[in-house]
Amino acid sequence: MRLAGASAASSILRAQPERSIGYCIVGLGRIAGHYLAGMKTAKYSRVTALVSGHRDKAEKIAGENNVPPSNIYSYENYDAIASNKSIDAVIICLPNSMHPEYTIRAARAGKHVLCEKPMCTTVADAQAMIEACRKASKKLMIAYRCHYEPMNLRAVQLIREGRLGTIQAMESINGFNIKPGEWRLSRTLGGGGPMMDVGIYSLNACRYLTGEEPASWAGQMSIIDRDGRFNEVEENMTWTMKFPSGVITSCQTSYGVSMPGWYRVRGTKGVLEMSTAFTYQGQHLTAKIAGEAAIDEVSPLKDPAHFPLEMDHLAECIFGGKEPKTPGEEGLRDMRLMMEIYRSAGRA
Ligand code: NAD
Repeated sequence: MRLAGASAASSILRAQPERSIGYCIVGLGRIAGHYLAGMKTAKYSRVTALVSGHRDKAEKIAGENNVPPSNIYSYENYDAIASNKSIDAVIICLPNSMHPEYTIRAARAGKHVLCEKPMCTTVADAQAMIEACRKASKKLMIAYRCHYEPMNLRAVQLIREGRLGTIQAMESINGFNIKPGEWRLSRTLGGGGPMMDVGIYSLNACRYLTGEEPASWAGQMSIIDRDGRFNEVEENMTWTMKFPSGVITSCQTSYGVSMPGWYRVRGTKGVLEMSTAFTYQGQHLTAKIAGEAAIDEVSPLKDPAHFPLEMDHLAECIFGGKEPKTPGEEGLRDMRLMMEIYRSAGRA
């Protein structure tokens, strides 16, 4: 970390943009590419190291991103990041069930952690990740992009201001038709099917939009395509939740059919919809509110703009000694709920 003093306020940071956090990216697949692209416009974040099982791939990516070859690590010598002062934090971009090991090893090496969603695949692992980071006095942030995305934040604001009146109900979908051979179809690596991977966006949206924690829930799941893809995980899942205020929500997710991310929130004064709700760009918010002009807004952000928002948020938390907006506890809440919803759907 180039910034001296962990308690510097973010206002000071804005006056000294040359200060930044050095990130080590762990796992060089698809989402890692978005972080690397996002580094180019980040204010306080830069890539300083890579971890990969494929040295040749890592060397190519290192060359493209000004990372010295000496800062390329393998999964075996990962713990050696402890002695590399150019690394302040890691970004875990691995399959879900690998998140705990690489988070805990990072914390033990004295590094902060930005971990992809879902946080992991079990409640016990989520607790262990939180405890390891707490013990090492390191930040743990879960990469819930929508908590940093302007249109989702605008939807939250409209609801909190009471513009929709009393919220009564919410619906959300998110799914895609998965190709065979993906690690996401392995129960061991994914922890589950579309629920863990993309249904989590709808689940999390129900929580951040209502601002409440569900009081009860019920899930159902199905497999329609007997083509070998769904030997270990569900193909379709639907679930309802009831919140303490009485708000009821209904969600669906799938690996068998394309369901672009979407939600609708219905209140006594109006209805709000978000299409392209959870993708890397293009969030489109519309709202019809009694007595008001219609709202119709599209996010101006283009991919990979969500990623610097996340990385810079963690950087500011590290500089300012603040907790991230989406800490490990946020991931743990979703993990508990997903396990309960699976249980109610009869998953062994
Ligand atoms: P990916 O398959 O593209 O990349 C995974 C990386 O892990 C690869 O570089 C692969 O080589 C490496 N790896 C190491 N051990 C492996 C193993 N045993 N099996 C498979 N791969 C192994 O996956 P991805 O789409 O980048 O997803 C990675 C993580 O990011 C997941 O947790 C996923 O849920 C999350 N993700 C988040 C978003 C988002 O918008 N926030 C989007 C996509 C993925």
